[in-house]
Order: sequence, then C-alpha cells, then structure tokens
Amino acid sequence: MLTTAATIFVPCDKCHGVGYIDHYANIANGICFACAGSKGRTTTEIAEAKRAAARTKRQAATAAKREAKLVAYQAAGDDRWAAFAADYPAEAGALLEMQAAEVVRMGIAGVAAYIVNYVRCGTVTPEDAAGRLYRDAVAA
Ligand SMILES: [Zn+2]
Repeated sequence: MLTTAATIFVPCDKCHGVGYIDHYANIANGICFACAGSKGRTTTEIAEAKRAAARTKRQAATAAKREAKLVAYQAAGDDRWAAFAADYPAEAGALLEMQAAEVVRMGIAGVAAYIVNYVRCGTVTPEDAAGRLYRDAVAA
C-alpha cells in the first residue's frame, strides 16, 4: 500500500476522468456533476489509502450483515419446516419423498417442492400446506 504524502490525481468514478458524459450531452452540455468537469480530484497517497481501507471495511461489514441475514432467513425456514414436520410427520415425509423423486407422476415433484418452499417461507400455514397436499394427492 502506498502511504506517502505525495500528491496524486484520482480520476472521477462517474465520468472515468473525462469530465463530461456523452449520454447527458443534453443536460448542461454533459458536464459531469460528480466532479463538476474537473475530471477527478487531487489527494495524497495516505488519504487515498485510508479511503480505500475504509471502503474495504464497509464492504466487509455489508457482506457480513448480508450473510447473517441469509443465515437467519434459512434458520427461520428450517424452524417452520421442523414445526410443520412435527405436526404433520406423514405429510412432511411424503413431501420430501416426492421432492426427492425425479418423476413420481408428471409434476408431482414440482408440486411437493412448491409446498415445501411455501412452508419454509411461512407464506402458508401448515394447515394450508397439508390441505394442498391432500387435495393434490386425492386429485391424482
Ligand atoms: Zn466526473
């Protein structure tokens, strides 16, 4: 990492150091509003290194937050599925069997996967899911 006090020029992120954007030629002659046509900014290597380090830290924090959210989302799905399977063990077993089967009958694996996903997402109650399974199974 460069950490001297030397002055450096950093090209504008928005216009990539051009100072204007062709696409916006009809607005203020396309002058880049981010750098006001200056094409970038003058800074020091130290300041730029600090900026880059802060950006990396922010990105890591955002990634960690996103990962935690995904883990919590998946855990909630697991909990809903476990609750459904506890209340409806036969239906849950049948659903998983159908989901795993390549073709039991036309589309049944897809229907099972659909119901399992609904239960996991909490968009239907276990009663609804069981009802759907029964209706589909009876109609078969
Ligand atoms: Zn610019």
